[in-house]
Amino acid sequence: MKRKHYILGIAMIATILASACMLSHIQSINASRTYHSLSGVSIILDPGHGGKDDGARAGNVKEQEINLKIAKKLETLLKNNGASVTLTRTGAYDLASANATNRKREDMKKRMEIINADKTDLFLSIHLNAYPNTSVKGAQAFYEKDNEVSKVFADIIQKNFKKLTGTNMTSKTGDYYILNNANKIGSLVECGFLSNDEDRTKLVTDEYQQDIAECLCNSVLEYFSFLS
Ligand SMILES: [Zn+2]
Repeated sequence: MKRKHYILGIAMIATILASACMLSHIQSINASRTYHSLSGVSIILDPGHGGKDDGARAGNVKEQEINLKIAKKLETLLKNNGASVTLTRTGAYDLASANATNRKREDMKKRMEIINADKTDLFLSIHLNAYPNTSVKGAQAFYEKDNEVSKVFADIIQKNFKKLTGTNMTSKTGDYYILNNANKIGSLVECGFLSNDEDRTKLVTDEYQQDIAECLCNSVLEYFSFLS
């Protein structure tokens, strides 16, 4: 019993400290910048998968390719709004070294190093979904459990996804490596289901990729206005 109380006490202190850290993060952002533009904001875009890892696939349609196209369109939009933007990958490759023994692990580790760099204000990991039930469709934003600020960001994205896609999905906590290991505010977005005919038909088009990018750019702008 005593041990239980001790552990509970530590957990409570950890939660309070985490909240205080988050608050000071927001205050430091508020104190130093205004968000009529994204000038001075550093954003990491992480197009999921790459190299031999296509992610979800439907025939010749590869998740890794569409993720990158959306990320590049979003990069342009964010830069037009004054942000400094870094992509974790800019081509059809992964980040593991040539002789890596576990490519996936090394790739993810390198993405985390880029995301967790000191200067990062916000990250977005861009993915597409697939599901055995092919009627499931829609776009969804995920955030790290117990991270209230990332939840704010994910909720804004989800609200805008709803406008774009009509989805009834809500933002959700996600057990993803990127979310679990990031020490920055951010979200992992699943922009649609390649397993669903309607989603896939839209996702392969340049126009819809641009719509998604605009939806995400507006969400970033809205998030920073919310903070200021
Ligand atoms: Zn993916």
